[in-house]
Amino acid sequence: MNFKAGKLLDSEITLNWTLPLYAMFAISQVGWQAGLFITAVVFVSVLAHELGHVLAARKFGVPTGGINLNLFGGMATINLDKSVEARQEALISLAGPAVSLGLAGLAALIWSGAGVPWMFAIAWMNALLFVFNMLPAFPMDGGRIFRSLLRYKLSYEKATSVAVSAGWVIFGVIASLAIYNGYWMLLAMTGFLALTGWAEKKGTED
Ligand SMILES: [Zn+2]
Repeated sequence: MNFKAGKLLDSEITLNWTLPLYAMFAISQVGWQAGLFITAVVFVSVLAHELGHVLAARKFGVPTGGINLNLFGGMATINLDKSVEARQEALISLAGPAVSLGLAGLAALIWSGAGVPWMFAIAWMNALLFVFNMLPAFPMDGGRIFRSLLRYKLSYEKATSVAVSAGWVIFGVIASLAIYNGYWMLLAMTGFLALTGWAEKKGTED
């Protein structure tokens, strides 16, 4: 279930019902003020990242839909199918992490230069988003970039299959670490991503 939150740069922004769960979890860990602040930082950062993908896609004339923010982050509807050239897919996939990296750098500069302490949280969050999304684990951005590189040598279907398999190995490692350390949220997220990748692979086979 999603709630409409408005429009930003021509993209409809919707909030999933799991979002309040995230806020409640954050508040339960660090209290009201810090909890709401962390939630806001996470979702504004994710929104900027997703807008990066959407704007890059539009530049190449790839149809885009809205952006949904949920417990596991965000998802922009971009029609990245076979018809999108490998090079364009790589650039669209790179655009989100590029925004995250840029925001991380900018926030770090403000934090160190002007001594604005809460900018550190924004820098850290965006750096984390950059690193996590660049893991070569399909359907994450790094995995999509990996697939687009594979497409130069393999068919779209075969490239997707290899990228998804590589993703499952990485998700397997992350899931093991999550179980070992008791990071249940990370485990749920990994499962969700692995299933999303599998569903996309299935989609290319039909
Ligand atoms: Zn992304």
